[in-house]
Amino acid sequence: MGVGLGLGVRGMKSITFNLEPLAVRQAQQREGTLAYCQDKDCTRSDVEHLAHKLHALRSIPTEAPAIAPPPTPLTASSFTFTLRSARAMGAASAGAVLGGVARIAPVPVSTAALMLQQKLAPEPAPPEACEYMDQYSVGDKNNPKTGCARFWELFHGVAISNDVTDRPGVVSKLLGPTGHYERLSFWTHFVGTFLFAIYALVRQILVRDDARLAGGLTSAAAWTIAAVFLSSSVYHATAPDLKFAMVTRVLDYAGIYAGITVTTTADIAVATRGFENVPYQTILDLPAAAIILIAFFIWRRGMTPGESTWMPHEITSQSKDGCLLSRGLFSFGHRDLAHIQMRQSTSLLLFANYFMSVPAAFAVLGGGVTRVVLALQISGFVTVTLGMAIDRLFQWPDGNLVEGSMTCLSCPSDGSPACGAVLNSHAVWHIVALLSAALTCISREYALSFG
Ligand SMILES: [Zn+2]
Repeated sequence: MGVGLGLGVRGMKSITFNLEPLAVRQAQQREGTLAYCQDKDCTRSDVEHLAHKLHALRSIPTEAPAIAPPPTPLTASSFTFTLRSARAMGAASAGAVLGGVARIAPVPVSTAALMLQQKLAPEPAPPEACEYMDQYSVGDKNNPKTGCARFWELFHGVAISNDVTDRPGVVSKLLGPTGHYERLSFWTHFVGTFLFAIYALVRQILVRDDARLAGGLTSAAAWTIAAVFLSSSVYHATAPDLKFAMVTRVLDYAGIYAGITVTTTADIAVATRGFENVPYQTILDLPAAAIILIAFFIWRRGMTPGESTWMPHEITSQSKDGCLLSRGLFSFGHRDLAHIQMRQSTSLLLFANYFMSVPAAFAVLGGGVTRVVLALQISGFVTVTLGMAIDRLFQWPDGNLVEGSMTCLSCPSDGSPACGAVLNSHAVWHIVALLSAALTCISREYALSFG
């Protein structure tokens, strides 16, 4: 059953846009494929393979483009357009509406509308210029590797150079011929691992005589942060492989939960001079919550088939050159689906747990020290929240990169300097996470120095 939407235009009879439900449109598309096969004497799987390939490449819209064809005489007072066309954004969608006006309006209005449409709509790029290749996959599908060989193949493709020579399509302008979407996400946290490992090592050498529990936990927190960034970089190195990513993504999140637990416990220890008068339930609260969460997400992963969570991620707005799969900002990954809010909110809640010990910090450390410690902790918390919002909500600067602006944030492998990396929203989040971790470390060291 279609969904009717009435719209009056210049005293004409109201026009009805018939939006077919998704299932009906998909069935029509399937029928269209069958009819095409019968016409062209090809097998259905050939066409589906081609359609899938095109869909994966996101190079050509699989349904009608938003730009309307030249005017044709109207045969009825209603016409149908696809939901995807209506969803197309910005100038292209304004162009579609104007094209529609041109079809139903008297001649002078029609000509004016068409001229305006031509001005608004970007010059459609030739199809081949829009067919961006899949630069996210790593390795040769005809020569699949397994085990350690596959791990090093993924590591090389993501971190150093991804060979895409035999793949159809155009190379991403943001990545260059050997670049990879995950490269900057990998390197930011790989470098972070070493920075925090050096800090942990230096701290242990310098404060060897510090027998305080809070000092010991602060060292443990430094090592844990290094381990969290290592597990994150291992996940990003293996992210293009469905099976590897199933394991490494769970390890990444388990590392984040464990990391927040150890660092926040260290913060509470610092705020209370080694848990002075703190009941054991308060100390066990965080580790218990983290263990339950880690166990839940391991169980969820075990119960959910990999294929059901493996999904593409992209921004489908039209770029200035008229291309849809915008310049190689395309990735695959496992999704939390119904549990995404649970995962994000629980990690934020564990982090926020520190603020419950603020009254104790004022009593134990005194007002002057606590104000500085608190300012640093709040900055760390706000930074992390902002980072999560940039990555998940604003997706900045992905939209700008897609449109072809802010390309200064990309470093294609054929450019100068050449690195085949792009500062997408997730890489921004990685840098913000490093800053936030550093702020909490400074806060602990400052409080300890007054112990
Ligand atoms: Zn990440």
